[in-house]
Amino acid sequence: MTTLFISDLHLDAERPQITELFGQFVRSEARRSDALYILGDLFEAWVGDDDPSEAGEYVARELSALQTSGVPVYFIRGNRDFLLGQEFANRARMTILPDPAVVMLYGTPTLIMHGDLLCTDDVAYQQFRAQTRDPRWQAQFLSQPLQARTAFAQQARAASKAHQSGLKQQGMMESITDVSPATVEGTFSRYGLDRIIHGHTHRPAVHELDVDGRTRERIVLGDWYDQGSVLRVDADGFELRALAP
Ligand code: MN
Repeated sequence: MTTLFISDLHLDAERPQITELFGQFVRSEARRSDALYILGDLFEAWVGDDDPSEAGEYVARELSALQTSGVPVYFIRGNRDFLLGQEFANRARMTILPDPAVVMLYGTPTLIMHGDLLCTDDVAYQQFRAQTRDPRWQAQFLSQPLQARTAFAQQARAASKAHQSGLKQQGMMESITDVSPATVEGTFSRYGLDRIIHGHTHRPAVHELDVDGRTRERIVLGDWYDQGSVLRVDADGFELRALAP
């Protein structure tokens, strides 16, 4: 049996073929798996569980059917859907895990996370992250009318785009928006385990590195912009693959 990991689907109304690809994946391969882990940015944007988005309804239906068929579904919030709450999780019958979380995969303790916590060179982003993960900020934000929240999200995305094109102009895009090597090493040391799985950077790869004299693995999931990306882990190892639409 296999445990599946996906992240960075960025589902929204603009790419219905990717929402459909996700549905097919859930109804086929995921049905035969031990568990499905979604490591954040399942949705392009999430302004509250009361937002009646079509993608949200579709995902809740597909994931609750998967869970009913006997496959547990776990979710870690990303930087796009950090406001996804318990109410939606209940509807989708998925379990929200903290970021990061340690899971045991066929005998291998593994740290799983969205991945933005490793991108510590982007100081402006980390400040935004700290502010918007504050429960008081979230309570205040969620108390606003849906329309105001949607407008804020659009603004935040435009600001993020401007921030990124500024980095590009300075030639800093590649380094600033990727993980910080020192933070990766520190994370391996602190948790004392040999494997991290994360998404967020949209740079699918398997990295091997030496930390404190031990070989460690950092597996990065890919995004679902033009195709899917899935990591399959079983007792013999793992495989990171693209999914054709
Ligand atoms: Mn992300």
